[in-house]
Amino acid sequence: MPATILDGTRIAHDLRREVAADVTAMSAAGLRPGLAVVLVGHNPASEIYVRGKVKACEEVGVYSETLTPPETATTTELLVLIDSLNRRNEIDGILVQLPLPPQVDAKKVLMAVDPAKDVDGFHPMNVGFLSTQRPGLVPCTPAGVIEILKRSHIPIAGQEAVVVGRSDIVGKPVAMLLLNANATVTVCHSKTHDLAAVCRWADILVAAIGRAGMITRDFVKPGATVIDVGMNKVTDPIEFARLFAGNSKREESFQAKGSTLVGDVHPEVAEIAGAITPVPGGVGPLTIAMLMFNTVKAARLRRGSRIPELSRA
Ligand code: NAP
Repeated sequence: MPATILDGTRIAHDLRREVAADVTAMSAAGLRPGLAVVLVGHNPASEIYVRGKVKACEEVGVYSETLTPPETATTTELLVLIDSLNRRNEIDGILVQLPLPPQVDAKKVLMAVDPAKDVDGFHPMNVGFLSTQRPGLVPCTPAGVIEILKRSHIPIAGQEAVVVGRSDIVGKPVAMLLLNANATVTVCHSKTHDLAAVCRWADILVAAIGRAGMITRDFVKPGATVIDVGMNKVTDPIEFARLFAGNSKREESFQAKGSTLVGDVHPEVAEIAGAITPVPGGVGPLTIAMLMFNTVKAARLRRGSRIPELSRA
C-alpha cells in the first residue's frame, strides 16, 4: 500500500492561521510582535528567502523591518547594528540571513543576537535550553518536523527514531526534540557503518543529509514514517532518470526548467513507507511558518505574556 503523504503545505497553512489569530489578539493588546531581518549585500538566493519571510510577516500581521547593510559591511558595523536591534523593545525577533560576506565573522555576529530575540534558535543559550528542556527558541526546520509528526498523529514516545545528519541547524536539534518527546534516538552521519541497516530499525526516519535521493527502499522498514528534510536541486539528466524515470509530470517540468527539486529520500520509498513527507510540499513550508511562530513566542517570552501552545490542532 502506498504511503500516506504528510501534507506540509496544509499543516503550515493551519499553523500560520493560528499564529495570525495570536498576532491579532496581541496587537489589540498593544503587543504587536516585530521581526527584524538583516540582509547583508546582494545574494540573489538570500534576497528570495528574505522576501518570503517578509511576505509571511505581512500575511500573519507581524511587523517586519529589513535592514540592508552593504556587501562591504565589517564585523564591527554589524555588531553595532545587532546591538541597536537588541535594545529596541518593539523588535522581538532578529534574523541574520546567511551567508554573510567573507570578511565578516559570522559566528561573532550570531552570538551577539540577544538569545531572547534569536528566532532562528541557533544561539548556544537556546541550544542549552533545548537540551535541558527549558522554555526557549527552537530552530525552525527541526520544530517543523515535530509539528508535522504531532499534527499527523504519529506517535513519537517509545518509538525508534533514526536521524541521518548531525548538523547544528537540522540533525542535532531534530534528534534532541525527538528525545525530549521520548523517542529512542539514534543519530547517523557520514562515518556511520552500515547506514542502511541502522535506518531499517527506524519507526521514524528523518533524512537531513543534502544528497538527492540517497535514502532508497533498502534503508526503510516497511510501514515506517519517513521525514525528508533534504532540498536538492537536480540538473543532471542521468540523476533525474535515476529518481523520476516514468514520472511524466516531473519529466515535463524538468524539460521546461532544466532542474527539479528533490529530497534526500528516493521517491520509490513512498511504495513501502507508512507515511512520508513529499519534496516539495513537506518540511519546507513549515520552516517559515515556524519562524512566524517563534517571533510570536519570543514576544510572549520577552514581554511576559502567555506562551502559545504548539499543536493545538
Ligand atoms: P549539512 O550541514 O551539510 O549536514 C549534512 C549531514 O549529513 C552531516 O551531518 C553529514 O555527516 C551527513 N551526511 C552527508 N553525507 C552522508 C552520507 N553519505 N551518509 C551519512 N550521512 C551523511 O546539511 P544541513 O544544513 O543539515 O541540511 C541537510 C539537508 O536539509 C540539505 O538538503 C538542506 O538543503 C536541507 N534543509 C532544508 C530545510 C528546509 O526548510 N526544508 C532547512 C535546512 C536544511 P558529517 O557530519 O559526518 O559530515
